[in-house]
Amino acid sequence: MRVLAVANQKGGVGKTTTTVNLGAALAEAGRRSLVVDLDPQGSLTASLDLRIAEDGYSTYDAIVDGEPLARTVLPTGVENLSACPSDPSLAGVDLELAAEFRDPKRRASRLRESLAAFSRSDSATTEFVLLDCPPSLGLLTVNALVAADSVLVPMQCEFFAMQGLSRLLDTVARIGESWNPDLQLFGVFFTMVDRRMNLSRQVIAEVRRGLGRQVLEAEVPRSVRLAEAPSFGLPVQLYDPGSKAVAAYSKLAREVLSR
Ligand code: ATP
Ligand code: MG
Repeated sequence: MRVLAVANQKGGVGKTTTTVNLGAALAEAGRRSLVVDLDPQGSLTASLDLRIAEDGYSTYDAIVDGEPLARTVLPTGVENLSACPSDPSLAGVDLELAAEFRDPKRRASRLRESLAAFSRSDSATTEFVLLDCPPSLGLLTVNALVAADSVLVPMQCEFFAMQGLSRLLDTVARIGESWNPDLQLFGVFFTMVDRRMNLSRQVIAEVRRGLGRQVLEAEVPRSVRLAEAPSFGLPVQLYDPGSKAVAAYSKLAREVLSR
């Protein structure tokens, strides 16, 4: 089971869209995949129209109360793709875990423990787990980084992109040193690209100069169909199979599969 955290503390850069559509692309390639909503805003939960049953659980219950992650897993409309929904109480995780666990490492390892138990019990043999992080470097993102094998960083082509990136990479490096020595940067992935704009081309060129091969080949163009798909509760693969965004996420999936 490979665990990929989709993280960037900057809001609205395409984390959730990438989690949903990369998950769907991996599932379409025949790989059993699980997407996990770690954001109290619940955008992934809404994007896939996940409904928690009356007696059902969310990622909050798994992280705070230690409920088995398997109890939160729901099917999606896509074969081979399942999902763990969040709920708004996830916003209180920092305070609740701080009250419950004195040891900062234990607080940061809740999701890692939960995924390890899931992996042991998982008869469906999930191959890929994608963690949709909230737009902050708080305890939820830290839990994702401690649980992950690698980090995928979606990024928008804008002037300040590089600045936020160095803070994120510092955090990744610090967590790697202290709590998760195997953590790797999988790569930076450009979203909402408009190649007609000089700025887009300049930003991509600058980031490539700085990071070299850590910038992925795949990039997703700005796409109205991609932005519309969540309101239908569908990944773009099902909403508009012929769109350029589908091709872009399939290319990203191939990069994930080949590394
Ligand atoms: P947050 O930080 O709030 O969690 P996020 O990083 O998860 O945001 P998304 O929710 O994936 O970002 O995307 C932000 C908005 O941009 C959404 O409305 C989404 O539909 C839209 N969007 C994402 N990718 C694209 C794209 N390639 N083209 C057009 N719109 C996009
Ligand atoms: Mg999001």
